[in-house]
Amino acid sequence: MICRRWGNVCCFNISREIKKAFMYNIILVFFSLLVISTSTYAQELPQFNVRAVRLRATDSRDENRMRQALQIFEKVMNDTAFQRKLLDTTFVFDLPDDPMRTLSPKQICDTLFSGKEWYDTDTDHTADIFWECTKRRIRPPFTSTIGYGNPNDSTINTYIFFVRNRKMQDIVGNLAHEWSHKIGFDHRPDNHPERERTVPYLFGNLVEKFAKKIYSW
Ligand SMILES: [Zn+2]
Repeated sequence: MICRRWGNVCCFNISREIKKAFMYNIILVFFSLLVISTSTYAQELPQFNVRAVRLRATDSRDENRMRQALQIFEKVMNDTAFQRKLLDTTFVFDLPDDPMRTLSPKQICDTLFSGKEWYDTDTDHTADIFWECTKRRIRPPFTSTIGYGNPNDSTINTYIFFVRNRKMQDIVGNLAHEWSHKIGFDHRPDNHPERERTVPYLFGNLVEKFAKKIYSW
């Protein structure tokens, strides 16, 4: 038998059918393992929704950007690779009397995915978003503030200059950070090295990173 690939020097005298069957089996096993590995992670955290309960903006262009940010946030939360990364994250609590500090990493993820905001305590696996973008068209000098929120107010306030001018992934990451406060996660107000490892910062930064991957249109 003359092997087409090797000319007259044929090392493996295997018929084409056996080779084909062998390759099919290899491919089948590979994809089965892939499905098993992704479904294992996908089952760990529930399907998640992001819902605009109330959006306010000064014009339709800004409102469209806000709606797009909400869609991307939902996509990120349901992304298997994102969930895997979140489950592998170790968080820090920088407030000594934080009631959340006894939670394990898995319990932190479950709490985020429960969608239980202080103003809507149903485990509905939904981020119920109250979001306003109605102030500060121009960024004031010497400040890095991009919005504000009050503990007893369900509304996330983001300044116009941020929603209008910043990259979409930054807006989505900031929204995720602010929403995690509504779920009950907190951090100290002052800037210190460990603050970046608290739940709002790590969660917001991870959402931002994956939003960048998803936002491609
Ligand atoms: Zn914060």
